[in-house]
Amino acid sequence: MSKPVILMPEDIQRLMGKDAQRNNIAAAKMVAEVVKTTLGPKGMDKMLVSPTNEITVTNDGVTILNEMQIEHPAAKMIVEVARTQESEIGDGTTSAVMIAGKLLENAEKLLDMKIHPTVIIKGYKIAAEKAQEILKEISFKVDNSQDNRELLKQIAMTAMTGKCAEDSKDKLAEIIIEAVNQIKGDNKSENLNLNNIKIVKVRGESIKNSELIFGIVLEKEKISHEMPSEIRGARIVLIDTPLELKNPEIDTKISISSPEQLQGFLFHEEQTIKQMIKNIKDSGANVVFCQKGIDEFAQYLLAKEGIYACRRVARNDMEKLSKAAGAKIISNLREITPFELGSAEYVKEIRHGENILTYVYGCQNPKALTILIHGGTEHVIDEVERAMKDGLGDVFCVLKSGLIVLGGGSVEVELSRRLKIFSQSLSGREQLAVEEFANALEFIPTTLAENAGLDPIDILTELKSLHDSGNINSGLNLFTNKIEDVLKARIVEPYNIKKQAIASASEVATMILRIDDVIASGGKKGMKSAG
Ligand code: ADP
Ligand code: MG
Repeated sequence: MSKPVILMPEDIQRLMGKDAQRNNIAAAKMVAEVVKTTLGPKGMDKMLVSPTNEITVTNDGVTILNEMQIEHPAAKMIVEVARTQESEIGDGTTSAVMIAGKLLENAEKLLDMKIHPTVIIKGYKIAAEKAQEILKEISFKVDNSQDNRELLKQIAMTAMTGKCAEDSKDKLAEIIIEAVNQIKGDNKSENLNLNNIKIVKVRGESIKNSELIFGIVLEKEKISHEMPSEIRGARIVLIDTPLELKNPEIDTKISISSPEQLQGFLFHEEQTIKQMIKNIKDSGANVVFCQKGIDEFAQYLLAKEGIYACRRVARNDMEKLSKAAGAKIISNLREITPFELGSAEYVKEIRHGENILTYVYGCQNPKALTILIHGGTEHVIDEVERAMKDGLGDVFCVLKSGLIVLGGGSVEVELSRRLKIFSQSLSGREQLAVEEFANALEFIPTTLAENAGLDPIDILTELKSLHDSGNINSGLNLFTNKIEDVLKARIVEPYNIKKQAIASASEVATMILRIDDVIASGGKKGMKSAG
């Protein structure tokens, strides 16, 4: 009698062949279904409650998926698509996940027709490549005309629709454009960096009071009450070393044999601090931002000199301050000269409800800025912040590539149409895969319609026939609920959003299709949950 061969421990879960494929596809579909209802300006919001009962109300694809704590391995791969989209572009997460889910759903149909996964994968790859080619063809160049500003504003508004109070969208878009124009300056658009825009949230007042600050707002208060609360004509010094006496118990190893020696040591340390503060004062500085600590003795001396100071300022805030006020970050206080200082119209401590902030206000031609978001409740502010980030991301994106595509499902319908024509030139079963790829893209226009309470089939049929007859700018305008020329209606999006969405959706879909064996080690209950 032969013994059974035991390859793996008993608690390993294993799904093979068809089971593995079906299970993975089901999970991917479910992820797409979850975010689907939030797509577009008429999409619904989701309320997410964390284990600690914190509530998030959002319409943002990646936020939803991050909060859901998804466990299924294939579903996690789909969530990764949203994360890539978020980090690369900052918008288009819902669309990317939906396309990935639909590609897999359609692949299932092909699997049912006994088409081998490798054939589907090959077809999908051909289709994705061709789709990128077509996308480039049907994109529009954004020129540098006067119209540009208005167009960029529209792009910001399209990105923000559905995510915040509609009546402040215009104001918020203005803020975005002004911020981007300021930090762009004459720089090449390629050097644009979103990190140079700081977003600060304050509770109180309404969204409409949100504002652009030509400077940096720190979530910090001055360290001592003795210090002035406002400094006009601020001369700012940025320091990344501590202004502290060395603590002989922690920092240093010295051998002291008499009380006099200790006294002498402390005296020396005090002199060092005094000298540091004197150097600061002599340089003409009246504001100090220190990345490290400032101890009580130094605080006392600074206050005596009428200097405003904050301590433990985060490194990235220090960098922003440096760009905004034109100051150098210095480590050696012996070398400080007026040349290293930055300037601002004023530095002021301002209280908003419970929050105390330090405003560095009115910088000359700042290369970093702050957008201050106001809002009645935390949930509102958080959602406005996400909307602003989408808007900023989109505007940056367009400036970088200089290309836009049409929204409202227009670009997807056109892509799908041309892919289907292209598929005719292929032979055999890959043709079917390319067609299914094309069908998957139609998921966007149908969902936009569905979420707005319109009939998806009617809308899609009409859009397709318009595109067939050469009206390739037709799309669904959800402000009027009509099919229109969306270029005229200015419903446009950055080209890069769609480029990235198609690329990552098809990548993850083919990757999942290639899996025919899932081996989960003990304790991972993930696989079952998609069943
Ligand atoms: P995503 O996370 O994919 O960005 P959104 O909820 O932001 O999801 O929705 C984006 C979709 O909404 C895009 O397909 C865009 O073209 C569409 N859209 C935005 N504004 C409008 C509008 N006014 N009319 C029709 N479609 C719109
Ligand atoms: Mg969006």
